[in-house]
Amino acid sequence: MIAWGRSLSVRTQLTLWYSSLLLVILILIGALSYRVLAWSLTQDLDASLGTFARVLQEADRWSGPSPEDALRDLLGPEMADKLFQLLDPMGRPGSRSSALRQRRLPLSAQAWRNAARGERTVETVVLTSGERVRVLTMPVLRGGTLVQLIQVGIPLARVEDALRRYLQIVLALGPVGVLLAAGGGAGIARVALRPVREMARTARRITAEDLAARIPPRGAGDELDYLAETLNGMLARLEGAFDQMRRFNADAAHELRTPLTVLKGEMEVALRSERSPAEYRRVLGTSLEEVERLIKVSEDLLLLARAPSEVGLRRARVDLEPLVLEALDAGVRLASGAGVSVSLGQMTPAAAIGDGPALRRAMLNLVENAVKYTLPGGRITLSLGQADGLARIVVEDTGIGIDAADQERIFEPFVRLDEARSRETGGSGLGLAIARSIVVAHGGHLDVQSAPKAGSRFTIELPAV
Ligand code: ADP
Repeated sequence: MIAWGRSLSVRTQLTLWYSSLLLVILILIGALSYRVLAWSLTQDLDASLGTFARVLQEADRWSGPSPEDALRDLLGPEMADKLFQLLDPMGRPGSRSSALRQRRLPLSAQAWRNAARGERTVETVVLTSGERVRVLTMPVLRGGTLVQLIQVGIPLARVEDALRRYLQIVLALGPVGVLLAAGGGAGIARVALRPVREMARTARRITAEDLAARIPPRGAGDELDYLAETLNGMLARLEGAFDQMRRFNADAAHELRTPLTVLKGEMEVALRSERSPAEYRRVLGTSLEEVERLIKVSEDLLLLARAPSEVGLRRARVDLEPLVLEALDAGVRLASGAGVSVSLGQMTPAAAIGDGPALRRAMLNLVENAVKYTLPGGRITLSLGQADGLARIVVEDTGIGIDAADQERIFEPFVRLDEARSRETGGSGLGLAIARSIVVAHGGHLDVQSAPKAGSRFTIELPAV
């Protein structure tokens, strides 16, 4: 079984939701249909009362003192539950149906008022026996004067019985319907969610070792295919990241192993026989160079690992102009023996939010590279500007340049195009990776434009403040 978390499973939630919804709909429909049924039964009753009153009026006119017998002859069994009573214009009772016995059909004030105006009234009254009766009070006018009141009634018992039976049926069948729907719904939800379960099972089989595996889409082009696509996209990115990490580890190990191998070789040779102090000094000198290389690579690796998190921690307003001037100083110092001139271009003060020392490190890396890859007689120019909400630092050189195909690759860790020159200058291929990681952590970009043998132009863009 798949654990869907501590809360209810999606299937149970779905089932509960639509069972509750169905229950609410059934209650609403039940209540509404009950009202409609009650209304239409009462309408039928009222229509019967109207007919009965007219028949009674006729019967009374022709049959003298006892209209009941005439009515029974006319209506037969229809007469069974019908009540009537005749009143004179003062409301005094005349003949009435024997079913009423000593009781009377009450005459409400409203009915009396309506009758005086010549209008009929239909109402529900309660007899002294507690019986509810639908009563029609009809005035009989002759020449505009009220001569008689005819009251006819039909007990509501039958209507109420019918309504009660209807209610019983709805109450008995409703829950059965809800239960059947819940059962069916749970089944449908299970079938609908089966692909999700299969997807989860496949996803669980995919481990860090086997990131090449993908979740097969069902080809239905639905939400589940979209989910599979999204998961596959995530897996592809993870796979890429893992590959990159593996490559990085291999490169880092290689980078550390080379100086260590040189060290080991030097030491072994030195130990093989007795050496002169000058010989030992030479070996120690070479060893020291390799150790310095090792320290540099380790420091660079640390920098690369720390850059994003440290930039995240230290955020303050940084004036960029002093940083560019510091980078200029460093460049002048580095270039002093190389016959390369380092100068300032256009300088428009600008500021960014972030980590000053980290930004200085990024700029220094660019300036160091510019010096390293520019031939004697070349020029390096540093400039600072601001446009479209971006602070722009440019380090431009007239150096050896970079092939278009390599221009993106050089920002990857351990990538060195000019292997011999780079090793000789102590470069580990991490400088640009560190610089870009710092700039990206500031929400900016570091890009290069370059032409072989003409020179390169590295641009740092940062959100300006
Ligand atoms: P490195 O330690 O080798 O300088 P970087 O990451 O700083 O490592 O640079 C990577 C590679 O990019 C360098 O080996 C070099 O080939 C190329 N490169 C960097 N800066 C320049 C430049 N200004 N001109 C020409 N090539 C450059």
